[in-house]
Amino acid sequence: MRIVIKNGQIVIPGEKETVRGDLAVENGLVISAGGTADTENSEVIDAEGKWVLPGLIDMHVHLREPGQEAKEDIRTGTMAAAAGGITRVATMANTSPVIDCAAVLRDVLQRAESEGAVKVSVIGAVSKNLEGKRLSEMGDLAEAGAVAYSDDGHYIENADFMRRAMEYADMLGKMIIDHAEDRTMCAAGHMNEGTVSYELGVTGRPAAGEDIAVARDLILSELTGCHIHIAHVSSGKSVALIRQAKKKGIHVTAEVTAQHLFFNDSYLKNYDTRFKMAPPIRTEEDRQALIQGLLDGTLDAVVTDHAPHANEEKDAPFCCAPNGMAGLETSLPAVMTALYHTGKISAGQIAQVMSSAPAALLGVRGGCLKPGYPADITVIDPERTWTVRGSGLYTKSLFTPFEGITLKGRAVMTIVDGRIVMREGKVLA
Ligand SMILES: [Zn+2]
Repeated sequence: MRIVIKNGQIVIPGEKETVRGDLAVENGLVISAGGTADTENSEVIDAEGKWVLPGLIDMHVHLREPGQEAKEDIRTGTMAAAAGGITRVATMANTSPVIDCAAVLRDVLQRAESEGAVKVSVIGAVSKNLEGKRLSEMGDLAEAGAVAYSDDGHYIENADFMRRAMEYADMLGKMIIDHAEDRTMCAAGHMNEGTVSYELGVTGRPAAGEDIAVARDLILSELTGCHIHIAHVSSGKSVALIRQAKKKGIHVTAEVTAQHLFFNDSYLKNYDTRFKMAPPIRTEEDRQALIQGLLDGTLDAVVTDHAPHANEEKDAPFCCAPNGMAGLETSLPAVMTALYHTGKISAGQIAQVMSSAPAALLGVRGGCLKPGYPADITVIDPERTWTVRGSGLYTKSLFTPFEGITLKGRAVMTIVDGRIVMREGKVLA
C-alpha cells in the first residue's frame, strides 16, 4: 500500500520553516519527504493548505483497561486518540489490577495490539498496588516492555522509598514519572487554593503542595542521578524550580496538559465538575508561567492526562465528583487555539512538544518523518474551526470542559504505520 500526501506543508520538529512538498509512504514506512513524489499505484491525498506532522504522541493517558471499562477501554480510548490526531499513547498503571507486574503489562500490550486504533506504550507502576510500600517488579516490567514507571494519581510520600525506586529505575535506564502533589496538603482539596476557592467556600489544593513535592524529587534526582519526569506541571513556582534544576544539570524533564495551558480557575466559578482535576487548573498567572515554560524549553511535552470517568460519576455535586477529564480529542485544537493562533508557538514547536519530544522521552521510534521512519502521520488543517460537543466524542466520557467552545485547528487525518485510521474526524480502524 502506497500513499502520497501531496502539496502539504511538511512540519519538522523544532524548525521554524516548513517544507512544501510531497510525503510518500510505502509498506508502513516514510520513503520520501519533500519534493515531488511519484503517484503511480498510490492513494493520493491532497494536503493543500494543510500541515503534515510526524504523528502526535501523548505520553500521559489513562485507558482504564483492565478493570475500569465503565470509564474507558483500550478500544474507545485509542479511537479517541485517532480522532484527535494522536498516533501513540502511553497508558498509566493505575488500572485494576494495577500494572505492577509483567503479566498484567503483557496482557495490556496484547489487548492494545488486537484492539487499539493507534499504538500503545505501557507505563509500569513504581510500587505494588500503588501503595508506596513495596517496589513493583521493576526489572520484569522493563523486560516486558514498560517505557517508564509511575504511580500516577498518587504521590510517593515516603522519601526513602522514592530514593530506592529511583536507584532501581536508574539502573534499568528508565525514568520515573512523578505525580507531584503532597497528599498532606492536597488530598482534602477540590480545586486550586486561591481567590476563587475562597469565594466559593471550597477547600483548595495549594500550589505549595505541588511545589514542595517537585522540590523534594528534584533533590532526590540529584542524589540518585535518576531521570525524573514531572507530570502535569500546573504551578508557576514549579516551572521555576524545574528551570533552575535543568540549569544545574539535574536529569529532569516535565510535561504540561493542554487544559492547563487553556483554562484558568475562573472557569470553576460555577462549581462545574468538568473542570475538576488534579493537579487543579490554577490562576491566570500560573497559566502564563506554564506557557512561558513551554516556550523556553523548561516544559518538554504537552500531554492530555486523558482521565475519563463514567458520566454519572462526573454528573455529581462538585465536592463528590472525581478528578480528571477526557482530553484526547481536544488537546491539539486547544493548543492550536491558545498558542498557535495567538502567535505564541510555531508549527515546528507543536511538532516538537507533541511528537518528537515525547517519542524521545518514551524511547520509541517516532517523532520524525525522515525516510525509514514509521509512517505515523498527522495531517492538520490549521484553519478548521470546531465547536466542541461532548456527545460527538469517541471517548466514553462525554463531559468535556470544552463543551460549546469553538476551537481552531484540528487533525483531519491520522495515519499509523501507513494505514489511514482517521479521515475527516471519522475513525476507520
Ligand atoms: Zn497525575
